[in-house]
Amino acid sequence: MGNIAGSKPNQSDRSPGAQAPRRADAIIVGAGFGGMYMLYKLRELGLTARVLEAGSGVGGTWYWNRYPGARCDIESVQYSYSFSKELEQEWSWSERYATQPEILRYANHVADRFDLRRDMQFDTRVTSAHFDDGTKRWLVTTERGERFDAQFCIMALGCLSAANKPKLTGLDSFSGPVYHTGEWPHEGVDFTGQRVGIVGTGSSAIQSIPVIAEQAAQLYVFQRTPNYAVPAHNQPLTPEYQKKVKADYAQMRAHAQESFTGVVFVFNQQSALEVTPQEREREFEARWAYGGLPFMGAFKDLLFNLEANKTGGDFVRTKIRSIVRDPQLAQLLSPTNVFGCKRLCVDTGYYATFNRPNVTLVDVSGAPIERITPKGLRTAGKEYEFDALVLATGFDAMTGSFSRIDIRGRGGERLKDLWEAGPRTYLGLMTAGLPNFFMITGPGSPSVLANMILAIEQHGN
Ligand code: FAD
Repeated sequence: MGNIAGSKPNQSDRSPGAQAPRRADAIIVGAGFGGMYMLYKLRELGLTARVLEAGSGVGGTWYWNRYPGARCDIESVQYSYSFSKELEQEWSWSERYATQPEILRYANHVADRFDLRRDMQFDTRVTSAHFDDGTKRWLVTTERGERFDAQFCIMALGCLSAANKPKLTGLDSFSGPVYHTGEWPHEGVDFTGQRVGIVGTGSSAIQSIPVIAEQAAQLYVFQRTPNYAVPAHNQPLTPEYQKKVKADYAQMRAHAQESFTGVVFVFNQQSALEVTPQEREREFEARWAYGGLPFMGAFKDLLFNLEANKTGGDFVRTKIRSIVRDPQLAQLLSPTNVFGCKRLCVDTGYYATFNRPNVTLVDVSGAPIERITPKGLRTAGKEYEFDALVLATGFDAMTGSFSRIDIRGRGGERLKDLWEAGPRTYLGLMTAGLPNFFMITGPGSPSVLANMILAIEQHGN
């Protein structure tokens, strides 16, 4: 192992038998949109950097989440890099909400376009990062025992990248395949003719359930907590629209930078409580017809006043009752928690899927999953048989990817201990006790409550 171009040999680490760690100005962990942008940015500053990535390619979220129906829920033209005007002009998004394969193609295009791969190392999981008080540098170690020595340690780990696999009793005993949505097989899965069980009803489940239901002979959906979803109304983007966006990109990006969530949409400055019920209904209907997250901008106080918030929740519950034919089923699918407190889901035919004869909703809030059996799953009092199990159980969000690495700062202090009472950061960028240690959209940043590519560029900058 040598040094990274432009760097000096390390004199400080010469333990007998060990090869000297490779040296760079910065080690970046993760090759999603965060790590890719950091590499681009550091090169621009004339620094040497190495990206270490556990997966076999770039794209992060879009490399791992290949489940049926996976797509972004911020409009593609906004969910994209703004740092290169040439990139903006040469890339065309085909749909209002791009699918996972298209976003992954985009990530690969960016990696090629800016020649990023020559400073990237794939199939490389980082296991530790230790600050050396003497040299004031970071020693980063991988699963294979490779070592890297850098002044800056940049964690672009992703806030939704550590798959959350529930510790269900008997999971290993299941005789069929088990898939986690966040670690989906690259070759895809064909559920045709199969009985499928899916655990979870969050965003990944809401995207995948309608697609799996079309393939499977029978689909059991195990729901603990229902979630709010608004329709995407996805559609192909016409050449005229693409042309208009490309002509207006600079303005749109500037507007996004100044907006509440980094997403451009019309934010109504009226209160939900100062308009008449008819006016309120009209506004909600218009937002529902438009589709997607702009629904949250229907009134200025939906997120800030509980009474106003309830009007949004009531509207969606009414919609669910109008879509789902069985009133009991509609009731089960209707969330009662604060509207939009958990990030709103954006769906394509989710609620209507429950009208299908081959889809069964199983409420496990009162009668929890007791165990996975060789043939399926048992709740208190009932057994369900299926051929394949899908865990749409999301992620150990925000801190999960950090806690899987042994990170130690000044004086050998562990990040785990520093964050024992919860993560404490400066804007989700840095944390006290870890000099020259940076996080891209780390805990405490707006992260998934915002347009994340915009947030990534902001953190990178
Ligand atoms: P990631 O893309 O998660 O990349 C992190 C990378 O770090 C991964 O490749 C991982 O393998 C690697 N890594 C982690 N730990 C290690 C380690 N120890 N060693 C080596 N490598 C490691 N955001 C939006 O704004 N709009 C959307 O529409 C949207 N849709 C989403 C849909 C899904 C299904 C998911 C899961 C997330 C979505 N997000 C969305 C959030 C999404 O995560 C971000 O938009 C963005 O892709 C994050 O980029 P990142 O580089 O920060 O993290």
